Amino acid sequence: MSTGSAVASQASQQDEFNPFLAMAERFDVAADHLGLEPGVREVLRAPDRELIVSIPVVMDSGQVRVFKGYRVQHNYLRGPAKGGIRFAPDVHLDEVRALAAWMTWKCSVVNVPFGGAKGGVVVNPRELSMGELERLTRRYTTAIMDILGPDRDVPAPDMNTNEQTMAWIMDTYSMHVRRSTTAIVTGKPLSLGGSLGRTEATGRGVMITCREALRTLGMRPENTRAVVQGSGNVGGIGALLLHREGYKVISISDISGAIVNDKGLDLPAVLTWIREHGTLEKFPEADHIEGTAALELDCDLLVPCATENQITSRNVDDVKAKLIVEGANGPTTAAADKRLEERGVLVVPDILANAGGVTVSYFEWVQDRMGYFWTEEIVNSRLEQAMVSAFNDVDRVRRRYDVSMRIASYIVAIERVAEVYKLRGILG
Ligand code: GLU
Repeated sequence: MSTGSAVASQASQQDEFNPFLAMAERFDVAADHLGLEPGVREVLRAPDRELIVSIPVVMDSGQVRVFKGYRVQHNYLRGPAKGGIRFAPDVHLDEVRALAAWMTWKCSVVNVPFGGAKGGVVVNPRELSMGELERLTRRYTTAIMDILGPDRDVPAPDMNTNEQTMAWIMDTYSMHVRRSTTAIVTGKPLSLGGSLGRTEATGRGVMITCREALRTLGMRPENTRAVVQGSGNVGGIGALLLHREGYKVISISDISGAIVNDKGLDLPAVLTWIREHGTLEKFPEADHIEGTAALELDCDLLVPCATENQITSRNVDDVKAKLIVEGANGPTTAAADKRLEERGVLVVPDILANAGGVTVSYFEWVQDRMGYFWTEEIVNSRLEQAMVSAFNDVDRVRRRYDVSMRIASYIVAIERVAEVYKLRGILG
C-alpha cells in the first residue's frame, strides 16, 4: 500500500513538472468553459507535426559528435508556425511540445497571424567553441529545412540562442534556396533585416504588462518592490525598464544565484557588471543568496524570467508577492496556480505577459516582406497597442467567466484558433 502511494505521489510530482501536461491541464479547463466539442479539443491540443533529427558535428578536435534536435509545430491554422529555438542540455520532447503549444496560444492572445512552433537542440552551448556552435546551427537548420519557410515556419531566438544564431540560420536557408530570404527567421541582426526594438521587445512587453496589472490592483510603480528572476534578454531588460518606470527592483538573478538590495538595485550598474564579468557573482552593494530563494523574498511583484517550473507546490506557499508577471514560459506549475488563486495572488500568465517578443517578431517578418523598415518609435508604439489591447481582451474574459488571468488568456486564445478551424474545416 505505502509503496503504491509513494509511487503514485512520485508519478504525480513528475506530472507536475511535465510542461506539456501543464499546458494540457489549463487547455482543458479553458475548453470546458468554451464548451468545445471533443473532436475540436483533440485537434487543437495535440501538436500537428514533430520532427526529431540527428545532428552530426565535426568538433574542433576532428572527432564527430552527434547531437539530438527537435522542431515541433503545434498548429499552423492562423498562419505560419512561429517560435524560438533553444540550446540546452536538458531539452526534451514534452518540453518542446509544450513550448510550441504556448506559442500557438501566445500568438493568438496578441492576435498575431501565426501558429506555434518550437525547436530545441540537446547541447550545453557553453562547452562548444564558436566554430562548433556555427556548424551545429547550420547542420540543424539543414536537417529541419523541409518544414521551414517564411510562409511555413519561422524560427527565432530562445534560451541560449541569439542574433548570431539567427544570422547563421538565415544564411544556411538562403544558400540552399539560392536567394537571400530574410523572413525565414526573426530576431536577426539589424544589418540583416532585423527590426529596431526586437531585442528589448519581450522585456518591454513585460514592463507594459506590469503597468496594466498594477492599474487593475490600484498599485503604483513608486510603491512597488519587484523581484526579477533571470537577467538575460527578458529579465535583464525587463528589470531595467521597470527600474526606469520607478519600480524598486530589489533583486535580480542568474545561474550563480541572486543579488538583493532592499533599497533597490542600481540596474544600469548591475547590467554593466554582467556585461563586463559575464555573471552577477561578486557584484558589490548587494547581498548574495543562493538558488531560487529570491522567489520567496518579501516583495509586491515577482517577475520570473528564467525557465519552467520555478513556482511549484514545493515553494508556492513561501511566495509573498501579490502580483506575478511571467516573463518566462511556464514558470508556474498547474498545482501552484491553484494555491496562488486560492490566496488571491494575481498571476499574469506567460502567453500574455511575454508575448511582446513574438509581437515584434511579427513586425520584423512584415518589414522583411515589405522590404521597408520602421522607426523604433513606430515599432514600440505598435507593440504598446498590441499588449494593452491583449491585456484588456483577457481582463474582459476574466470578469465574464470569473476565472484567473491564465484561464482567461487560454479562453481568448483557443476561441480564436477554434473559430479559424471551424471556418477552414478539414481537408478530407
Ligand atoms: N522565444 C520567444 C518566445 O518564447 C520568441 C519567439 C518568436 O519571436 O518567434 O516567445
